Amino acid sequence: MRYVSTRASSPPLGLSEAIQTGLAPDGGLYVPERFPTFEVEDFEGLESLADIAEKFLAPFFEGDELSVQLSDICREAFDFPVPLVELDETTALLELFHGPTAAFKDVGARFLAACVSRLPGRRTVLVATSGDTGGAVAAAFAVRANAEVVILFPKGLVSPRQEKQLTCWGAGVRAFAVRGDFDDCQRIVKAAFADRQLNRAHGLLSANSINFGRLLPQAAYHAAASLWYLRRRGARAGLVVPTGNLGNAVAAFWARAAGLPVREIALATNANRAVPDYFDSGAWAARPTVRTLANAMDVGNPSNVERLLQLHPDFEELKTFARAFTVSDEEIKRTIEAEATTRGRVFDPHTAAAARVRARLASPHWVVVATAHPAKFESIVEPLVGREVETPPALAELLDKESVCEEIEPSLEALAKALS
Ligand SMILES: *Cc1c(COP(=O)(O)O)cnc(C)c1O
Repeated sequence: MRYVSTRASSPPLGLSEAIQTGLAPDGGLYVPERFPTFEVEDFEGLESLADIAEKFLAPFFEGDELSVQLSDICREAFDFPVPLVELDETTALLELFHGPTAAFKDVGARFLAACVSRLPGRRTVLVATSGDTGGAVAAAFAVRANAEVVILFPKGLVSPRQEKQLTCWGAGVRAFAVRGDFDDCQRIVKAAFADRQLNRAHGLLSANSINFGRLLPQAAYHAAASLWYLRRRGARAGLVVPTGNLGNAVAAFWARAAGLPVREIALATNANRAVPDYFDSGAWAARPTVRTLANAMDVGNPSNVERLLQLHPDFEELKTFARAFTVSDEEIKRTIEAEATTRGRVFDPHTAAAARVRARLASPHWVVVATAHPAKFESIVEPLVGREVETPPALAELLDKESVCEEIEPSLEALAKALS
């Protein structure tokens, strides 16, 4: 399999090379040149996420030096539970938050680290975070000898627990609080990758969803969820995906494009409504970022929209199986309260946005993608549900560590100076 740029004017690369390149030289994002055409029967006898992922990902690794290690990579990356939990007769919840930092970003970050640690050379992993990515990337790479991590996060715009997860790692992980918003962080990271000198001096590796090495394992869990749902209920499920930078959403579209039984896709955004506006108008326009309770989805200019439009350039065709909805903070709050009262389930604000969208959909058979553990957003969730949310042990351990971070202006110069 080869990987091509969404802007089509960079030479195609193999998997390992594309993972290490991050942003394509023409400024585009790498995408698979074509998609495999799986049938449901191809997965017969495979039940665990690691087994399904290995089968699903094999064509994407074909011809690459890492293909012989795919089985080990899958077992190493998918070593925490990813249960599909029953919510009601026609809805299931895909819990992606049982990893070390309690958000779905652990899956992609651990898979990327498992791939990169098997390739030669030392690297500086550079990542912009709206809250959850940075912690997951730090946790995944901190244990690797051949990588240092540099995290940019918007100062004051991440939750206290998220900030702790960015700043608690000590040597080997440097966290920068940027005086700006997530879009500023993302812009600086993109500029750093476009700067050849800086890139060469530090051996930069992207761990944002710019890097499709994060999206492939996400496509694999969407694939697994669709198969598990079909086996249990005899129906093809739609996926409701809480959406910010559109990485997880694009991974869902990729699973569908590869022939997995994903009936349709509903995207749930918070008040950052660039994506729902696109589905209304057919014209793409980035928007300034607004702050919401679901802060990991506070993205006004999602970079993965390029991948979505490349895969589905025909707007009318896209709308036959995909929709997008905006969910207000008020609705997020009411959903968290109502779910706790009626079903005794505590949702984090991002999952609550998806649950709200599910409630608006009349058709049966949906998988709601649960992207974070509520304990990560306890300052929002606990007052709404009126009780303490238990902290998972791995998260509790991180919260006990000391924090260190540096503050910088929102510019490439400021980052380059701090790194030199
Ligand atoms: C990052 C994140 C999202 C948004 O995912 P994208 O791939 O950026 O669209 C949703 N929920 C949580 C908890 C996140 O951390």
